[in-house]
Amino acid sequence: MLHFRLLGTAAGGGFPQWNCTCVTCAASRSEPERVSPRLQLQAAVWESPDAIFLLNASPDLRFQIEANLELHPRTNQGKRNTPIQGIVLTTADLDQVLGLLLLREFQPLTLYATALVRRVLEANSFFRMLGRVPHQLSWVEIQAGIPFFLGTSEIECSPFAMAGELPFYAREEGPSGPGEASLGLLLEGNGRRIAYTPAVPAITDSLRRIYARCETILVDGTFWSDEELTRTHAGTPTAQAIGHVPMSGKDGTIALLSDLPLLQKVFVHLNNTNPVLDPRSDAYDAVVRAGWTIAEDGWELAQ
Ligand SMILES: [Zn+2]
Repeated sequence: MLHFRLLGTAAGGGFPQWNCTCVTCAASRSEPERVSPRLQLQAAVWESPDAIFLLNASPDLRFQIEANLELHPRTNQGKRNTPIQGIVLTTADLDQVLGLLLLREFQPLTLYATALVRRVLEANSFFRMLGRVPHQLSWVEIQAGIPFFLGTSEIECSPFAMAGELPFYAREEGPSGPGEASLGLLLEGNGRRIAYTPAVPAITDSLRRIYARCETILVDGTFWSDEELTRTHAGTPTAQAIGHVPMSGKDGTIALLSDLPLLQKVFVHLNNTNPVLDPRSDAYDAVVRAGWTIAEDGWELAQ
């Protein structure tokens, strides 16, 4: 079986965010039983529990490993081991790679990334901790349009190009071509097919065609509205300006994908300002009425 679990669902900064007093962050602190706190976005996929693959590596990864039994080291396999075999990187964004630094401790791992994302990480001295001894880190360079299998599993991973530049602190490694800095992933196994697209700057025809082939799509749910961030924190950019199609509005994700009714549609990567984080909000109602799921930490692909 293809197993797919979200170990965290929040955008960078988590929820509540440490330095934020916006309405949703405040509600999560005062009423956590109603407005659930969330860890930063992290996905895990596996066919066999002995070979688990992470999609990106969040800054909350240590907590996420401890909170999920499947990811624990096995007591019958020596003092040091892990079922985690590899990590597929879709970006060099800090919120999606910082967790790699928590996976050192001389553990052999395979990292799947584009040549450009690899170059960004290798240019940073911190990441040398992952390669202190021979055979600790194995790189597999991946490219949009060229499918590969995760380790020796039968899970096929097909990366596809997303628009998007390198994060600002890594621009000196650019410029990037299509799909070099940001990927979406199509995962297939045992007849299941899901798309993982936590950063969607535009819903293009090619993206719609990929979604239409899937049974489940996990889609960028960073913002409810284009002006949400600006309204909450004056002087900040719009959602579209920082590469996220908002959920609502005539040019929003819900409207643009409304003609794909048979799909299981799931929002991930929720920013702390997003009103859908409060299940009592009108925004939450609207998302659910439109047939979308707002992923919670621990969400799993139904078996
Ligand atoms: Zn906030």
